[in-house]
Amino acid sequence: MDFQKIINEIYTTCNSETDKGKVANYIPELKKIDPTKFGICLNTLNNNTYGVGNFNEKFSIQSITKVFALTLALKLIGEKVWKRVGVEPSGDPFNSLVQLEFEKGIPRNPLINSGALVICDILVSNLKNPKEEFLGFVQKLSNNNAINFNKTVAASEKKCGFKNAAHINLMKSFGNIKNSVETVLDFYYHMCSIEMTCNELSSSFLVYANEGKLPYNNEEIISKSIAKRINATTLLCGLYDEAGNFAFKVGLPGKSGVGGGLVAIHPNKYAIAVWSPKLNKKGNSNKGFKALELFTTKTELSIF
Ligand code: GLN
Repeated sequence: MDFQKIINEIYTTCNSETDKGKVANYIPELKKIDPTKFGICLNTLNNNTYGVGNFNEKFSIQSITKVFALTLALKLIGEKVWKRVGVEPSGDPFNSLVQLEFEKGIPRNPLINSGALVICDILVSNLKNPKEEFLGFVQKLSNNNAINFNKTVAASEKKCGFKNAAHINLMKSFGNIKNSVETVLDFYYHMCSIEMTCNELSSSFLVYANEGKLPYNNEEIISKSIAKRINATTLLCGLYDEAGNFAFKVGLPGKSGVGGGLVAIHPNKYAIAVWSPKLNKKGNSNKGFKALELFTTKTELSIF
């Protein structure tokens, strides 16, 4: 299959349509991003890379980082993670507080904000230098030591993060946050501020397509079984209250972030990342969604 030709066509088609989405504005630093940026990068497990548009430009990966955090938490404490967070899709927006009270501070899943905050609490408890070690882990997945936080973005989100503060305080009142609220929030904002290009992002997600092994040296990061579970969680919860539509139209485990990034994997085949900052009403990249829908339609390479 001529993947380069396919992604070029997708790029042209998506660019010819008017994008009614809006750039995330609740994090002041993210408001500044050029809304016309658009890149696609496909990395296959047989070592090929195909890119088009702004696929080598850094952007804020935001919630996509939650998959890396979950991976590290599972590595550190294994199944005990599931005592503190569930595995059910929430059917609600990523930052909704509604279910948290009914569920007594146990978030529905690790990919909504409340769930990711619990995962951050686990990481803070189990790492000596949480931020440095987390960054090191992500650098290892991406085989790239230049991956870094954007401290300006982290500080910008911290200033306006009233809703995340509400989540974590509510969970703390139920006893599901063990460390100080400030420490966990600081860690969370840093991990969300990590910047990657589409190429770096899809390369880092190849581990989930490769049964938990790093594609560049075959080192096992997580077992095949944990990789399967992470992919199941991503499929069901990665796009929040749009996860059903994403499975329906794209048919891959995928994860979005409010920076406009969207990444998806096909087990044993490939990882693909798209970046376009304009978001739809569910907080997912409009063009990103469309591009992936076209990709699995044209290639017939969905998991279903
Ligand atoms: N840092 C963002 C937040 O906490 C991440 C949300 C997202 O990407 N969906 O609101």
